[in-house]
Amino acid sequence: MSQILPKKNLKQLLSNWAASYEIYAPQQLEKFAHFMPTNGSELLYIDEQHNTRFPPKALFLPQSETLMKYTRFGAAQETIPESKPRIVFGIRPCDAKAVDLLNLMFLTEKDSDPYYQARRKKTALIGIGCNIPCPSCFCTTVESGPFGRQGMDALLTDLEDIYLVRTLTQTGKTLFAEYPEATEAQEAEAKAVQQRSLKLIDPAFETKGLKAKLDSNFENALWQKFADSCLGCGICTFLCPTCFCFDIADEAQRKERVRNWDTCMFRTYSLEASQHNPRPTRRERTRQRVMHKFSYWLDHVNKIGCTGCGRCVRYCPVGLDIRAMLREFNQLEAEVANG
Ligand code: SF4
Ligand code: SF4
Repeated sequence: MSQILPKKNLKQLLSNWAASYEIYAPQQLEKFAHFMPTNGSELLYIDEQHNTRFPPKALFLPQSETLMKYTRFGAAQETIPESKPRIVFGIRPCDAKAVDLLNLMFLTEKDSDPYYQARRKKTALIGIGCNIPCPSCFCTTVESGPFGRQGMDALLTDLEDIYLVRTLTQTGKTLFAEYPEATEAQEAEAKAVQQRSLKLIDPAFETKGLKAKLDSNFENALWQKFADSCLGCGICTFLCPTCFCFDIADEAQRKERVRNWDTCMFRTYSLEASQHNPRPTRRERTRQRVMHKFSYWLDHVNKIGCTGCGRCVRYCPVGLDIRAMLREFNQLEAEVANG
């Protein structure tokens, strides 16, 4: 059963929530959507049918964060955040799924990252489905969809003047408790919107058997071909909602230990103290990015490490398209098999 939130009530709802929660929602900065704080009075940027430029991972694993402060005399204090309960409103299904995937890295029963945990455990995710997916979206290829529910507390479907709200957890139910139930006609309208949206996304590449193809073509010349146009700028990984690599540095003047996002697309990422570098050229680094998502994640947690959000496709300055790369690997394997 779903509920109805009239769009004209949204500001008031956010304002009510703001009494007890920090709220983040997409707002326009220059020509892009970004998650920024709101108390209901800001203009939201959620009618645009694409996700934010920066992924919401930044709300859980900030681009740069202080882990510890210390003194010259050896005293040290961890700086685990003490945030208020938070709501991330307007997160897209690919990005909510990405947060769920990050949990597998930072929030396991065996080994949790206390900084990530402090933020994640206090955050509710209220999503909005994508009525008209972008041409660069390929969520349906990687086990999700424009109305996927994974990781969310509630999912909204935009029906012009109203949102149909499907609550998915107790937190979601509590947040929308005061809103009336949807009628059968409204449920049917939402279903039609969702089905229409699904049909707008074509399969981007074949995932069945893809890992084996990548593993068996580790030394293939295609990696060099793709790497030839790569600039090594790292945008594809910094903006990826599931990339989580970081570096830890001591900022001696500030007397702080700081964690910063890092990327396997940089030469220095794998440079060892001996000056040996196991990934000395862009060929190895391009291969690492793709293999990590579509082979190594499967080895570690039996999941593809990509949610099809399309950011790496949209923002790569030279137009390197991971979908096209993977299609070429599929084709190559077929050529070998047929030859
Ligand atoms: S965004 Fe494009 S050019 Fe930059 S590192 Fe990634 S693949 Fe290379
Ligand atoms: S690899 Fe590209 S499409 Fe996949 S989750 Fe990362 S940025 Fe999105």
